Parts: sequence; C-alpha cells; structure tokens
Amino acid sequence: MKHIRSIRRCVQLLVFLGFCILPWLGETIRGSLFALRLGPIPFADPVATLQTLCGNWPGMRLLFGAGFTLIIALLCGRIFCSWICPYGFLSELVHRKNAHPKQTPFKQAFLVKSGLLAFALLVFLIFSYPLLGLISFPGELSLLPLLAWQNETVLAILIAAALPILALLLELATGKRLWCRYVCPQSVLLGFASGSLPDNCLGLRIRWNPKACTCKGEAPCRQACTLGLNPRHILGPNRRDCTQCCDCVQACSAKGQALTWSCTTGKKTIDKYAAKN
Ligand code: SF4
Ligand code: SF4
Repeated sequence: MKHIRSIRRCVQLLVFLGFCILPWLGETIRGSLFALRLGPIPFADPVATLQTLCGNWPGMRLLFGAGFTLIIALLCGRIFCSWICPYGFLSELVHRKNAHPKQTPFKQAFLVKSGLLAFALLVFLIFSYPLLGLISFPGELSLLPLLAWQNETVLAILIAAALPILALLLELATGKRLWCRYVCPQSVLLGFASGSLPDNCLGLRIRWNPKACTCKGEAPCRQACTLGLNPRHILGPNRRDCTQCCDCVQACSAKGQALTWSCTTGKKTIDKYAAKN
C-alpha cells in the first residue's frame, strides 16, 4: 500500500484524459458520466436517473445503469469519487496539503447535502427546472469534450465549465474540499449505498486494527485525509463519507500498518473497540 496514492493518481489521470478524448473514440464507449455505455455495460448517474423518475419513466438502460452504479457503491464504497470522478480529481489537486482547519462534523455535512438534493428534486417537480444537472459536476465536466466535438465556441465551453471552476477556486482559497463535503448530490446516493451494509459484511473497506496502532494524538492518517475524516472510525454510517482513496492507508503504512484496505469481513472486537472511542 506504499504506492497506492501514485497508482490512484495514474488511474485518475488516465480516466480524465480518457474522457477528454471520448467523443473521438467511436462507438465502443459512448456517453458521459450522466449515462455511459461501456461496450454492452450501461452505467448511469443515480441522481440523474432519480430526477428523470420525477418526470418520466426512464428507459430500462438508464435504470440498469443506475442500479449497477449503486451496487458497486454498496460493495466497494465511494470508489467512484476517488478513482473516477473528474471533479474529485481536480479538487484533490487544488487541495492544499495540511490545510485541515476545524471541520463541520460529517453528520451535519451529510444532512446539508441531502437537504440540497431534496430541494433540487422539489424544484424539478414543481418548476421542471433541472437544477441537479447544473450542480452535477462529474457529469457536467465529462460533457465538456462533447461540446468541443460538436464545434461549440470556446466561450460556450467556458460558460459550461464556469461553476466547477468557481468551486475549485473557492476550495483553493479555503483549503477545504467544500463541494464534495457539503454539496455534491452524487455523493449523497453513493454515500447511502456505501454505508448500507453492516460492517462485518463482505465488502471493500478501510479497516483499522487498534492493536497495531502506534500513533497517539494527531495521527498521520488523520492529517492525510483531505476530507477531514478520522480514518480510525470509518464504521457504520460513517462509511458513507469515506471515498476509499487510501491516502490514510498509505500514511499508516509508514507507521503501525493498523489501517488496511481489504475485502475481508470485519472482526467484531475491532468494531466494538472503535465504537467506544
Ligand atoms: S463527492 Fe461528488 S464531486 Fe466529489 S468526488 Fe464524489 S462524485 Fe465527485
Ligand atoms: S478516511 Fe482514508 S480512505 Fe477515507 S477518505 Fe479519508 S483518507 Fe480517504
């Protein structure tokens, strides 16, 4: 796990570049992060599908795609955020190292973005205005190359990219990953799915072994988390906030190696210990 961050960066970069050239790639991979077809396999943004459900009955392909995305989140957590999402990638790049001012507890942060998602759905139901389309940064960013492919002007592309650029500038100024923490509607549904299974169920998880933990006080794993989480307490509903980026696991690999990223089932003793702390 010593090089997991570098491996992840390479994957993020490849995915990012892949989306940049996607419209020119032909028929095998088609679409955007709103709805993508990877050969015969459909993927879809669950939030966009939910919004479509509020108006019309979405096509089966869209429903299957959204279901598939949620099943991946159920079993592997929010790996979309840390390995695929173009905004997540850019947000991590602009994040200033060691900029971890006091953060709002995640319970509240999750409530804020759940409320925003509900509000945006309500706006769609009442006014038929697709507010969620505007604030769905992964899908929006993945559409930009399509605009270039359609010979849209640079100004039109810049206007389409304006909101994500503004959010990135704000994150650069504040040193906080504001969008992913407080706003992103995608992270709400992915988060619900990733925190749904019990801790001792089979699934890809960040696990902590307190017996191997050698750090006291402000641990390096905690400093490594750009989302301000405590990696030693990624249990139960807290799993919905973790993007499984493994930055904490890499930081821990230089210490007691108490944090691991594994597919094994959890041990009750560890869960009990963590619940008390
Ligand atoms: S929280 Fe949203 S914007 Fe952030 S990485 Fe996840 S999907 Fe992307
Ligand atoms: S707890 Fe660890 S794996 Fe989860 S988001 Fe923070 S650094 Fe990444």
